[in-house]
Amino acid sequence: MNYDVIIIGAGPGGIFAAYELSKLDAGMKIAVFEAGNPLHKRKCPIDGDKIKSCIHCKSCSIMSGFGGAGAFSDGKYNITNDFGGTLYEYIGKKEATALMEYVDDINMQFGGEGTKLYSTAGTKFKKICMQNGLHLLDASVRHLGTDINYIVLENLYDHLKEKVDFYFNSPVDTVKENDGKYVITARNESYTCNKCIVSVGRSGSKWMEQTCKELDIPTSSNRVDIGVRVELPAEIFSHLTDELYESKIVYRTQKYADKVRTFCMNPKGAVVSENTNGIVTVNGHSYEDPAKQTKNTNFALLVAKHFSEPFRDSNGYGESIARLSNMLGGGVMVQRFGDLIQGHRSTPQRIAESFTTPTLNATPGDLSLVLPKRILDGIIEMIYALDKIAPGTANEDTLLYGVEVKFYNMEVKVDSNLESCKKGLYIIGDGSGITHSLSHASASGVHVARNIVRN
Ligand SMILES: Cc1cc2nc3c(=O)[nH]c(=O)nc-3n(C[C@H](O)[C@H](O)[C@H](O)COP(=O)(O)OP(=O)(O)OC[C@H]3O[C@@H](n4cnc5c(N)ncnc54)[C@H](O)[C@@H]3O)c2cc1C
Repeated sequence: MNYDVIIIGAGPGGIFAAYELSKLDAGMKIAVFEAGNPLHKRKCPIDGDKIKSCIHCKSCSIMSGFGGAGAFSDGKYNITNDFGGTLYEYIGKKEATALMEYVDDINMQFGGEGTKLYSTAGTKFKKICMQNGLHLLDASVRHLGTDINYIVLENLYDHLKEKVDFYFNSPVDTVKENDGKYVITARNESYTCNKCIVSVGRSGSKWMEQTCKELDIPTSSNRVDIGVRVELPAEIFSHLTDELYESKIVYRTQKYADKVRTFCMNPKGAVVSENTNGIVTVNGHSYEDPAKQTKNTNFALLVAKHFSEPFRDSNGYGESIARLSNMLGGGVMVQRFGDLIQGHRSTPQRIAESFTTPTLNATPGDLSLVLPKRILDGIIEMIYALDKIAPGTANEDTLLYGVEVKFYNMEVKVDSNLESCKKGLYIIGDGSGITHSLSHASASGVHVARNIVRN
C-alpha cells in the first residue's frame, strides 16, 4: 500500500494533521494508524461496581484509540503560550496562538458551539494571588467538557472517514527509511509513504524512544512532574472556578524554592485512574452536563523535577514512585490531609467518616511512604498557601490521591517545521516532548500539515 502521508496515532495531533491535509489537498492519499479502538468501542471497564480498579487492558481506552488521550478528558482547551507546551519556541508565539484559535473554531463547527470560553484577562484574582505569594498564569480556557468533547470527536471522525484510511487496533511496529520514502509495519503488513507524521502521544513514549534510537534521531532527556490530586467540596473553589473555570496557579516553596503548580482543575468533577504502560496513576475530569456533575472539585498539585547529567531517565524516576504507590495501594491511594499532617495512614473508616466523599474508589493509605520528602513538603506548603485564597483547602477532610505523575516524553530534535533530521519525517504532539495539551498538540498537527502541502 502506498500513501502520500501516513500519520501514526489518532490523538488530537494526528486528527488535526489529517483534517488540515485533507482540507488543503483533497486528492492526497492519507492513512492514519492507531494502536487503539475506534471512538465508539473505547470503554474503560471500571464501573465502580463489579470492576473497581484498573484491570490493565491490552489497550487502555482512557489513553488510546480515536481521540487519543484527550477523548475522555475534561476537554479544557487552553489558548495560551504560558503552559501546555513549548510549541511557540519552534514556531513563534503569534503563530502558535493563531493555530490554537483556528483549532478552537473547528471544534466549535463540529459540535462545540455554545460552550463557554473563560479568560483570566482583567480578573481580580491575579492581585489576590500575588498578595499571597501565588502567581496566576494567563490563559483563555474553552471548557468543552467530557461529553461535548466526545461529540466533537464523533463529528470529526464522520467528516474524516471518507477522506482518510483509518487502521484501528494497528500499532505501528517499525518505521524505516527507504530511498527517500518511509516504510511502516503494522500487524505484519508493510505500507509506504512519502511523508510520515508521528503523533504517538504519551502512551507511545517508549516506542518513540526506541524509534528515535533506530533512526538515529537525537533526543534530550526531559522532566517529570510528580504530585497528588486534591479533591474537596466544590464550594471551596467556586469563587475561582465560576469566573475562571480553571486557574493555573504557581507557588515557589520557601524550603527548597521548588515550583509547585495547580494543574487540570475540574469543578464538580470526578477523579479517575489512568494506566500508562502498566502503571496506574490518577487524573480527573468533569462533565459540561449538570446532571453528570459531582459535589466535588479536583485538581492536581505537581512539583516539576528536572534532572541534570548523568541521570537521563526522568520518566523512570516518576514510574518508580508510581510503582511504589501501586505496590502499597494496589492502584491509586487516597489520604485525608488531616491524616497526612498528623502522620498516620487513612483507613477505610476515616475515609467513610470524612465530610468529603471520594469520587474514586481508591485504597486509603499513607502518601508519606510513597512521595519523596522534598515533593511532599512542597505540596503541603502549597496547600497552606492556597488555603489563604480559598479557605478550606487545608481542611482535615481534603482528600489527596496519589500519585499523579505527568510523564513528559523526551524531547525529539526537530526544526521549525517540526521535521526531524530525517527529511519527510515529522514528530508532533505530546510524543515529541514539545506539547503537553490538547490545544498545543492539535496546533502542531495543523502546522505540519500546512508545511507538507506548501512543499
Ligand atoms: C484523563 C486525561 C485528561 C486530560 N485532560 C486534558 C484537558 O482537559 N486539557 C488538555 O489540554 N489536555 C488534557 N489531557 C492531555 C491531552 O489529552 C494530551 O495532551 C493530548 O491528547 C495529546 O495529544 P497527542 O495527539 O499528542 O497524543 P495522544 O492524545 O496521546 O494520542 C496518541 C495516540 O497515538 C496512539 N499510539 C501510540 N503509539 C502508537 C503506535 N506505535 N502505533 C499507532 N498508534 C500509536 C495512541 O493509542 C493514542 O491514541 C488529558 C489527558 C488525560 C489522560
